[in-house]
Amino acid sequence: MCVFCKIVNNEIPNKKVYEDAFVVAFLDINPVNPGHVQVVPKKHIEDVLSASNEDLSHIIIAVKKVAKAILESMDYPAFNIEVNNGAIAGQVVSHLHFHIVPRKEGDGLTHWPGGQYKQGEMTQIAEKIKNELRKEGAINEIE
Ligand code: AMP
Ligand code: ZN
Repeated sequence: MCVFCKIVNNEIPNKKVYEDAFVVAFLDINPVNPGHVQVVPKKHIEDVLSASNEDLSHIIIAVKKVAKAILESMDYPAFNIEVNNGAIAGQVVSHLHFHIVPRKEGDGLTHWPGGQYKQGEMTQIAEKIKNELRKEGAINEIE
C-alpha cells in the first residue's frame, strides 16, 4: 500500500487537517514553508490524467477550502498550488496530491525560469495542441 493510502487509513502517523467523503488533507512532513499541506483523494489514483472529472472537482474544492484556512490561520498572503505529474516532473509519491505551499515575502523561493520561442515556433506548437484536442473530440471554441 502506498504511503498516502496509509495516511488516508491512519496506518502511519500524520497530521490531518481536513477530511470529507472523497478527500483528505494533511501536513507535508518536509514543508517548503510551515503549513505546507497535501490534498489527496481517499482512493488511490496515480495522477491527474487517471482521475475522473468528479475526482478532480472534489480535490480542487478541498484545495480552495484548506488554502483559505492556511492563509487565515497562519497569516500568509499567498500560496502556490503545485502538482508534480509523473516521475520526470518530480512526482515521488505515486498517489495524486496537490501541494498547497503557503508563501510570504522574502521566503527565498523564486519563479521558475521562462524560455523563449524561435520565430514561428509558438504558432506551430499551438496548432499541434489544438489539433490533438480536436482529435480527442474536446469541445473547443477556438477554430
Ligand atoms: P512529490 O514530489 O510531488 O511526489 O511530493 C511528495 C511529498 O510528499 C513531499 O513533499 C514529501 O515531503 C511528502 N511526504 C512524503 N511522505 C510523507 C509522509 N509520511 N507524511 C507527509 N508528507 C509526506
Ligand atoms: Zn495510494
